[in-house]
Amino acid sequence: MRVVFLGPPGAGKGTQAKGFATDRGIPHVSTGDMLRAAVAAGTPLGQRAKEIIEAGELVPDDVMAGIVSDRVREADAEAGFALDGFPRTVAQAELLDADLSGRGLALDHVLLIEVETEEVVRRLLARAGGRADDNPEVIRNRMGVYERSTMPLVAFYESRGLLRRVDGLGSVEDVAARLAAAAGGGADGGTG
Ligand code: AMP
Repeated sequence: MRVVFLGPPGAGKGTQAKGFATDRGIPHVSTGDMLRAAVAAGTPLGQRAKEIIEAGELVPDDVMAGIVSDRVREADAEAGFALDGFPRTVAQAELLDADLSGRGLALDHVLLIEVETEEVVRRLLARAGGRADDNPEVIRNRMGVYERSTMPLVAFYESRGLLRRVDGLGSVEDVAARLAAAAGGGADGGTG
């Protein structure tokens, strides 16, 4: 199963995408985690991404699309993947679509975790300090970037019949159950 997790920062996307992927035996592909690892390792990508991440801005679309294209070609992603944090712009979604369709593949579901702005800001401020980009100013910027650049993906995927809306309020288990139901139920990979 090939799925994309969509939602504002602080919606619980990372936790849910990870659990979803583990249950189905597919890799959890978090571009934020990949970028943070690159920063920590001091690779050329990491050096380029560090300031962008710390400002809450976006790494260029072509760079991100290249990273994800390579990652989803790896052997462990043959049966599927759970993308977390990518695509973040319509341009990235189009590059992903072209890359997958070029291989005769397509996304099965785009799972949108819906949490209202007030609640996500509250959650992000509560965990502030844990990450270099979790301080009030950067959080506000990341929310603005989400609304301007990532929200258009909702309409983009809705028009393609891929969007599944899931209420992100409640316990981790409750939200996980809603996501599993939205993706066709069960943890056996489904039929798409
Ligand atoms: P995340 O952990 O998904 O919140 O990502 C942390 C930061 O990494 C973001 O605020 C961006 O600066 C950068 N980033 C992660 N994924 C992407 C992406 N798909 N496109 C551009 N920048 C990204």
